[in-house]
Amino acid sequence: MPFHPPISLVEQIAVRLGLLGDTRESSFDDSQRREDGTLVNYPPLDKWDDWVEYDSRNWPRRRVPRHYSLVPTICFNCEAACGLLAYIDKDRNTIRKFEGNPVHPGSRGRNCAKGPATINQVNDPERILYPLKRKGPRGSGDWERVSWDAVLDDFGQRIRKAIQEGRNNEVMYHVGRPGYERAMDRVLQAWGVDGHNSHTNICSAGARMGYQIWQGYDRPSPDHANARFILLLSSHLEAGHYFNPHAQRIIEGKMSGAKIAVMDPRLSNTAASGDYWLPTQPGSEAAVLLSMAKIILDEGLYDAPFMRRWINWSEYLNAKRPADERTFENFIAALKSEYQRFTPAFAEAESGVGAETIVAVAREIGRAGSRFASHNWRGASSGNLNGWEIARALHFLSVLTGSVGSVGGTSPSAWNKYSPRFWQEPTPVKSWNEVTFPKEYPFGCYEMSFLLPHFVKEARAKLDVYFTRVYNPVWTNPDGFSWIEMLRDEKSVGLHAALTPTWSETAIFADYVLPMGLAPERHDLQSQETHSGVWLSFRQPVMREFLRRQGKEVEFTYQANPGEVWEEDEFWIELSWRIDPDGSLGIRRHFESPYRHGEKLKVEEYYRWIFENAVPGLPQKAAAEGLAPLEYMRKYGAFEVSRDNYKRHERRLSAAELEGSETSSETEVITKGGKAIGVLIDGEAMEGFATPSRRQEFYSSTLVDWGWSEYAIPGYAASHVAPQNLDSSRGEMVLVPTFRLPTLIHTRSGNAKWLNEISHRNPLWINPVDARRLGLATGDLARVSTEIGYFVSDVWITESIRPGVVACSHHLGRWRLNREGQGSRWSTSLVDLKHEGKGVWRLRQKDGIRPFESNDPDSSRIWWSEGGVHQNLTFPVHPDPISGQHCWHQAVRVERAHAEDRYGDVVADTERSHQIFKEWLAKTRPAPGPGGLRRPLWFARPLRPAAEAFVISEPADK
Ligand code: SF4
Repeated sequence: MPFHPPISLVEQIAVRLGLLGDTRESSFDDSQRREDGTLVNYPPLDKWDDWVEYDSRNWPRRRVPRHYSLVPTICFNCEAACGLLAYIDKDRNTIRKFEGNPVHPGSRGRNCAKGPATINQVNDPERILYPLKRKGPRGSGDWERVSWDAVLDDFGQRIRKAIQEGRNNEVMYHVGRPGYERAMDRVLQAWGVDGHNSHTNICSAGARMGYQIWQGYDRPSPDHANARFILLLSSHLEAGHYFNPHAQRIIEGKMSGAKIAVMDPRLSNTAASGDYWLPTQPGSEAAVLLSMAKIILDEGLYDAPFMRRWINWSEYLNAKRPADERTFENFIAALKSEYQRFTPAFAEAESGVGAETIVAVAREIGRAGSRFASHNWRGASSGNLNGWEIARALHFLSVLTGSVGSVGGTSPSAWNKYSPRFWQEPTPVKSWNEVTFPKEYPFGCYEMSFLLPHFVKEARAKLDVYFTRVYNPVWTNPDGFSWIEMLRDEKSVGLHAALTPTWSETAIFADYVLPMGLAPERHDLQSQETHSGVWLSFRQPVMREFLRRQGKEVEFTYQANPGEVWEEDEFWIELSWRIDPDGSLGIRRHFESPYRHGEKLKVEEYYRWIFENAVPGLPQKAAAEGLAPLEYMRKYGAFEVSRDNYKRHERRLSAAELEGSETSSETEVITKGGKAIGVLIDGEAMEGFATPSRRQEFYSSTLVDWGWSEYAIPGYAASHVAPQNLDSSRGEMVLVPTFRLPTLIHTRSGNAKWLNEISHRNPLWINPVDARRLGLATGDLARVSTEIGYFVSDVWITESIRPGVVACSHHLGRWRLNREGQGSRWSTSLVDLKHEGKGVWRLRQKDGIRPFESNDPDSSRIWWSEGGVHQNLTFPVHPDPISGQHCWHQAVRVERAHAEDRYGDVVADTERSHQIFKEWLAKTRPAPGPGGLRRPLWFARPLRPAAEAFVISEPADK
């Protein structure tokens, strides 16, 4: 039956005048409608091979059909890994657009603005299309095009030599945006290199430590959709971290009646739509959370059965109250006593949040019981010295309410994340890399990546081959001028390759710039803990897959991509064969086909093996459709492995698991082969959690044994930006530099024109009270001074920030050194970079964002001129002595800009920065710990070396 959508009177007139086409002449065929006439949300699966849409670009000609092949892949603009569908024009062989993949279990067809903007990144006229090698000195901007062959030969020979000479740990792979589930661990293990480095310690190490010490899993996985009360610490996570998958489930929870509280000194979008906003003084969050714990305890709102079974309370009483009888009732009495001082009045005095609000939220949490969901990522836990205690205090509320692993509660991340295995695993590396895991940070979660320039300065580190992969430390990290000093020093960094899809402030200082694929230009596996369920998604180079569907196979992905943009998978396989061409180093065999003996692994074989052998249920599901597992993943791009993964800690151990095990009569922990595998709970053998006690560890013997006994139980310790640590004579305030604009993502959004049109300013947020005191009005320029320098920004006066605190988004302030290219002109300001000697650096904007000529007509239509201010350059490193997290918040002095100041000015002193590094290093209590260990054996570690490498006396140190 034909469907005629209604149109307004104005539209009818416009149609008569010929200004509009008549939409009543149905533009849609039946496949796009439900029976009631409404449109379906997504193209039906059976039409993905040949989907027809009318071409909007043919205006005024109407109803010009275009045929599309829809190929699934994964968004690469944040870690959420939402599904995308590439619409490939079958006649023009080009990607027309990206929309959501409806069968992706995490994103369910939805994306944030950054997902569809992938098309901007693909078509960016300024993207890097060919491998480049520098010609002049590093940073000179002088490049020549080289072949992939030449690149592989250069790196292959250099890495081979390093390995042959036992300098394995001078090879480092430093990743910004991860992915590739376990793939890089495998590559580096095969090379025998403990050289994995990441961005984690400038991001989530604080939160990870708080969760790790409780339960042995370092990330939370909230079940927002089924929650009755949701508490979010800082908005960052729901405006950036797992943004779209979490945001849609929070809204589902809200629509089902859940209430939301947000603790953040800034009124974020999330806070604005919550039921409670708790604008805490930065660093006081643990005081508020522990006060809530006290209320829950005092008012009997806790879940006694869960706590009795799953907290290591007996261990606590043994250690801290040896005179008490070991009963649960005594534990509860002890808990009340431990947290006596955390009255609502005390929490109010510390945080500035009204006591009545704290009590109200605590009661809501208590009433929600096991349906209390919470999350804490960056923000508070990454901003403050002792920030990890904030995550620990937050999880305490989940433990008190029995909402750990429950429906509507918060589960450990690992329960909801897929991890692949391979046909053959290289043996763990036997050495330990002192640069990434130095003795000073035995609990570091994880690599102490942002300290690298300081270790180099002190000759503790030297790199022969350094890969930065989608990583821009010069711009993203604190203390970027120290990174420039390190990268320019060819004696400290022998050969630097920037594997990147886009120009960056770091790529400028590389020896090679190697263009790597964007979301639709490479293979990858992704799985994230977006809800209670495990899913796996498959990133694939969509043009390569499209060509395959047309019967045109290519050997390498760069043959199907724009220019010679490649992908890491094939790059590492080829490089590994060049490192070990004859197989004598034992490396090559790890990169041989599981299907063709002794022959080089092909990228499709890598995924084929995993899909056929290591994804439970996938072969059966595929077979039901008459497909091979790889064909299934190519077609749908995602697979749901399991759902409703609640209460895994209560899983009963099987007879086979228990065979040959032992149970401690003291702790009831079940061990097998020296490894804890479960715990007896009320006489039943259960899996438990991943701690030594297999319980939730309220009392941490690990922290005690490693010399941090004052942190034995969740507590509240002052932040470096607590009021008592601010210099009131300088009028110091707290700068919160960690918040994210939901439309931007670190470096890669710089070359997405739509995103930059939406967001291109990062003014300093100031409360009117402070603005009056400082004599500032919206739009004025202010100088913001840190410990090592200052930046100059315009200001925005708003009541959306608490008095005494200023905030600036960290996603803007991109810059480039050259007028033409080498930095996306949609987002970068042209700057002068000067080293004035004795560690003092100065960056001044010469020009803002300007229209430019290119093959994209939109580049000449750029209307915005501001690109933001780069604040991170003025931050010294602040490594938390326990978690290793860089504590982002800054004690700053804000004043009117000086006469000589200009918008975007940045000045910083790297010598002063190095002194501050030493001051923070002095706060640590270095390994060895018990047994001569560098790190507790039960702590997670990327690229985990062999157990003997954990022992500090091992001579295998390199
Ligand atoms: S939340 Fe947005 S940026 Fe992140 S993966 Fe999803 S669509 Fe992409």
